[in-house]
Amino acid sequence: MALIPIVYYSHHPTLHKVAQPITHFDEALLTLIQDMYETMYAADGCGLAAPQIGIAKRIAVIDISDKKNKPFCIINPEIIEKTGMELMSAGCLSVPGTYTTGPRATYVKVRAQDETGKVFELAATGLLSHCLQHEIDHLLGKLNIDYLSPLKKQISLKKMEKFLRRNEKD
Ligand SMILES: [Zn+2]
Repeated sequence: MALIPIVYYSHHPTLHKVAQPITHFDEALLTLIQDMYETMYAADGCGLAAPQIGIAKRIAVIDISDKKNKPFCIINPEIIEKTGMELMSAGCLSVPGTYTTGPRATYVKVRAQDETGKVFELAATGLLSHCLQHEIDHLLGKLNIDYLSPLKKQISLKKMEKFLRRNEKD
């Protein structure tokens, strides 16, 4: 198992590209999933998508449990139903030091594959719904700050750069 460095907004091209489907459900994939769990927990996140670690593949890991002991992965996920709309404030490990508010569906149903390639469906509201939409956006090259107006986006990016500079000095 290994920690993989998380990349930041506009610092890495993979974050802003559409990711490619996973076609091989093999040992290497299981290792990647374990590394993604470890990296997500180390960063204290509730979700992590492969483009956030510089890998342009359609895979994300999620754990919204309080004890951080219920991880699962979504591979080649698609939103097949969504209803409602609410404004949601959220952070992103790739845009550290800032929270942004954007529109999210209230309810989503997602179809995805698990680590063995088995197809499953997951219906969600609340935090899980928002988290699924956030991670699936990452696989489309879209981040939560992309929903902001150009001015608000600039402000958020400045906050992020300031946060990164401060952390470098520590
Ligand atoms: Zn994110």
